[in-house]
Amino acid sequence: MGRSRERRRWLREREDALRAARAARVGRACELCVVGGGASGLVAALEAARAGMDVVVLEARESLGLSILATGNGRCNLANVDLSPAHYNDPAFVGTVMGERPLEEILAFFGELGLAVFEEEGRLYPRSLQAASVRNLLVAALEVTDARCGCARPVTAVESAGGAWIVRYRNESEQGRSGVPTSAPELELRAKRVLWSAGGGSLAPLEALGLPLVACRPGLCPLAVAPSALDELAGRKVRGVLTLEREGRIVAEEEGEILLREARVSGIPAFDLSRKALPGDRLTLDLVPERTQAEVEAEIHRLSKSAGRLAPHCLDGLVDPAIARVILELAERGWPLPADGVAESAAALAKRLPFEVTGAADDHPQLTLGGLALRAVDAGTLAVLCTASGAELPAGLFASGEALDVDGPCGGYNLAFAWLSGARAAHAIARGLRP
Ligand SMILES: Cc1cc2nc3c(=O)[nH]c(=O)nc-3n(C[C@H](O)[C@H](O)[C@H](O)COP(=O)(O)OP(=O)(O)OC[C@H]3O[C@@H](n4cnc5c(N)ncnc54)[C@H](O)[C@@H]3O)c2cc1C
Repeated sequence: MGRSRERRRWLREREDALRAARAARVGRACELCVVGGGASGLVAALEAARAGMDVVVLEARESLGLSILATGNGRCNLANVDLSPAHYNDPAFVGTVMGERPLEEILAFFGELGLAVFEEEGRLYPRSLQAASVRNLLVAALEVTDARCGCARPVTAVESAGGAWIVRYRNESEQGRSGVPTSAPELELRAKRVLWSAGGGSLAPLEALGLPLVACRPGLCPLAVAPSALDELAGRKVRGVLTLEREGRIVAEEEGEILLREARVSGIPAFDLSRKALPGDRLTLDLVPERTQAEVEAEIHRLSKSAGRLAPHCLDGLVDPAIARVILELAERGWPLPADGVAESAAALAKRLPFEVTGAADDHPQLTLGGLALRAVDAGTLAVLCTASGAELPAGLFASGEALDVDGPCGGYNLAFAWLSGARAAHAIARGLRP
């Protein structure tokens, strides 16, 4: 008992000493300051350090790469075999950033780090199926470079100053464990170049610089739907097609496994539609995409014939019986619209179960939509060129990853963009400083 307490104290002291050593290493000046040691920032810092640059990473959290650990349900879906730019919100910008052979580049980069990769339905994961493999290899590779890494160092401001940039950050490294906050002094670092790779939720310093921002909102998350008679289906999982409609026009369609929850429609198809959904949109769920409405209606009639009325289980062969029961009850009550016949109404519901979208549900989104407007960014170098008013920005500020107004669907697209944009920015910065 006594010995294990002693060992815990020893480990704590050692951790403190290591942290203090790291803090001391941040220093006061560098060639490149990478803000954010997540997916994009780690790749950028590694590539820049390997190119011989003097790099400092400032990371708000207590360790590097923690954002990677949560990805892909802890498995890290790190890329996709089909990385066509067409899957992203701005294919032209993304295509320029990702280049000709994005997948080969990602695989070569991680292969060189020692990561074995596994494919499942086009999605790529570490062979270990552990996101920690990806994070650990990135951090370990960075640790053997000369890059200096300051964790628990949130950046609060970035300002241009006489041909360089001043990065202001707080030192929170002494706070926390005891629960008693100590001082969190603001410090500054002078950097020739700054790469903003702080993810989607941390844009205040960019706003203070007057840069054009696209309003942030949650994405890749469940769709919030108005409470309705369908809430009683909460918990049912189905395979089907979700269609998002606006003013009578189809905005997008997604097929796959869908989870019905109270006032929520979830699952990957709903996540993907959340990138495009707006409050007031209509969402319909086709529970039998392989059949037409007329075929479903004919089947209901065929199975009901002998009973002389709708048989209670006439839809059970096509859809989950719990959902079939609710559909028949609703059809008999004439919901959502009176139909000529109950069979027609039930078939219509099986093909177009309707939900009213109230927005994207803010519970644990996988992505922040919006961010730094792409019109201010050079896709070839990731350099930030101008402010919202169109005024030229002093040279030396770059941005990568989710901080940019770039979003892709589920399936490894957002990490792929984070890795590649980080690498692209690092190469451009290195070329600029070491022509
Ligand atoms: C639960 C979850 C699961 C996901 N799963 C997948 C998946 O399987 N596949 C996929 O492609 N995408 C996935 N994503 C999306 C993907 O993780 C992000 O798109 C990607 O991590 C973006 O990389 P980034 O480097 O831009 O941002 P992050 O990886 O978020 O890194 C930003 C870093 O900056 C730090 N930071 C923030 N503010 C500051 C500041 N002011 N100063 C200093 N540091 C700061 C943060 O602490 C963080 O470490 C998932 C996201 C979530 C939330």
